[in-house]
Amino acid sequence: MTDQSFENRVQQRLQELHDQQRFRAANVVQLLADGRCEIDGQAIINFGGNDYLGLAHEVGRVFREEAVTQVGATASALVAGRSQLHRDLENALAAFEATEAALLFPTGYAANLGVLTGLVEDGDAVFCDRDNHASIIDAARASAGKMLVYRRDRLAALQQSLAKRRHEFRNVFLVTDGVFSMDGTVAPLAELCDLAEQFDARVIVDEAHGTGVLGTHGRGACDLAGGNDGASVEDRVLLRVGTMSKAMGGLGGFAVSTQPVIDLLRNTARTQFYSTALPPAMCAAMLESLRIITSEPERRERVQQLTELAHNEIVARGLSTVPGGVTPIVPVIVPGEAAVMKASSGLREAGYFVPAIRTPTVRAGAERLRLSFGVHHSEEAVTSVLAAISDLTSGLAAGF
Ligand code: PMP
Repeated sequence: MTDQSFENRVQQRLQELHDQQRFRAANVVQLLADGRCEIDGQAIINFGGNDYLGLAHEVGRVFREEAVTQVGATASALVAGRSQLHRDLENALAAFEATEAALLFPTGYAANLGVLTGLVEDGDAVFCDRDNHASIIDAARASAGKMLVYRRDRLAALQQSLAKRRHEFRNVFLVTDGVFSMDGTVAPLAELCDLAEQFDARVIVDEAHGTGVLGTHGRGACDLAGGNDGASVEDRVLLRVGTMSKAMGGLGGFAVSTQPVIDLLRNTARTQFYSTALPPAMCAAMLESLRIITSEPERRERVQQLTELAHNEIVARGLSTVPGGVTPIVPVIVPGEAAVMKASSGLREAGYFVPAIRTPTVRAGAERLRLSFGVHHSEEAVTSVLAAISDLTSGLAAGF
């Protein structure tokens, strides 16, 4: 016990953040409809957003028309907040995802939290990839089950762990990001399903960055993984979580699964029913996003072309990335906190917004510039930002 006051402790912690160069100020960033953004009055090309398909502005008309009559839902979905638009969107999500049922959440974060705390009971285990998004890690920790961490590049160790410990638990869940949000790579979904079937476990996949972007139908990493012998990865997975805040251009999370699992979650996922339902106008806009995703596959094809171009440029310029990326999240590894920050601010001066990703989001030594590409980027923008990164980082290497 110390006699330090709370106020002093706050000051001390702030000082520690400054000393470690970890204090983060929130930028004010104005997004423009052409894929640029305005920061401090300067319009620059934005590689920091997740609006892969350009829908954030496009569905605005539908949103505005609905918001004229009502903004807030005013109550939780289980009280008086679930309008016809909420029901239509849940039905449309279930149809799009080819599952029996869907459940809306306030955000993707809340969806992961609600799904794991709502499904996992005392005596169960949650095996979590060590690179899973913070919302899955937090959800696994908050659940009543035991959290165990595995590495997807060491599935043999996961298999051994399951062989040794499966009998200790009632239900076992393997939970993974479909797309790893800092790497741009996809999870080994078929292999995880094999293990789940071998050890009577259930797989849960967070499709946050895959929805609208990956797979034949644009449903995400499970869709991309396909299947064999008639058993698709989508059918082998218990539940998929999604967010409408990325390719769908809006806000809100969802879970899709069988009717009984969704019925259970509607009654056990506290982040869903202890929070106010989404604004109905958001549901209307997201219905429009789903319509566009289904009817305009050329959008995701374009994103795929830009992703391939970026990877080719990275190889040609001898830059370092995480190999195997197939998604429009493309990292360029710039080790060292100071180096990556310097590269990011140099890029800002050159007219490109590219966020620097540091610890604790990635491990020390794996700091990176994280580029996200979308339909609004030209080929020229992709090649020129990578040329600028190449120039800046070779200069940095010489200067360190
Ligand atoms: N999962 C992953 C993999 C994410 O990247 C994010 C967003 N950063 C979320 C969940 C949370 O989604 P939302 O922004 O809708 O809360």
